[in-house]
Amino acid sequence: KQFSQLGLAEPILRAVTEEGYTTPTPIQSAVIPAMLSGRDILGTAQTGTGKTAAFTLPLLHKVHTDGKQAPGKCCTALILAPTRELALQIAESIETYGRLVLPRVAVVMGGVKPGPQVRAMARGADFLVATPGRLLDLMGSGSIRLDFTKTVVLDEADQMMDLGFLPAIRRILQALPKQRQTALLSATMPKQIRALAQDFLTNPEEISV
Ligand code: AMP
Repeated sequence: KQFSQLGLAEPILRAVTEEGYTTPTPIQSAVIPAMLSGRDILGTAQTGTGKTAAFTLPLLHKVHTDGKQAPGKCCTALILAPTRELALQIAESIETYGRLVLPRVAVVMGGVKPGPQVRAMARGADFLVATPGRLLDLMGSGSIRLDFTKTVVLDEADQMMDLGFLPAIRRILQALPKQRQTALLSATMPKQIRALAQDFLTNPEEISV
């Protein structure tokens, strides 16, 4: 299959082509149509398989077709990642693939001052990329409300588990709108991650590459 057969809107296809991608990777061929259909996803995929574009492109498609968040509202899509480095990489990928859509991207992570992060979100954002600990802190203090979130992606879930983030992830998911799409991606599927999927995903499409 070609990128043009996956159902993505024109400005996203163009950005991908300009990036030099010709063919979708296997995880992209599987995840992009599934996410566009609105289904939950339980995906086993390693780094380097193109998984970032696999979940970023359909999210950009939705922001493009459904419209951006109003000023002061946050965030259509929430992406949880284990580390600051990965959170920043994901934010950069959103900017790259979204350069013809121009989504507003906010990043929330530990180790940096929360003030500017909170102010960026208060202006309104379409995407929030976050590490779980800091996000839970800011939700607890009332600095962030995720009332408008339609999709949540858990990237490298097994890594987040290894870093002790499972309790934070569970509390974040409990606080999100019930009507939402959830995608869980992990390099491995230990039983705690299966249990997380069992508790928070609805009839997920299982994808393994
Ligand atoms: P990831 O697995 O998301 O970390 O992506 C690994 C690398 O593959 C990144 O440097 C991407 O720029 C690149 N990449 C992702 N999708 C494609 C594609 N369809 N064709 C060529 N390169 C890609």
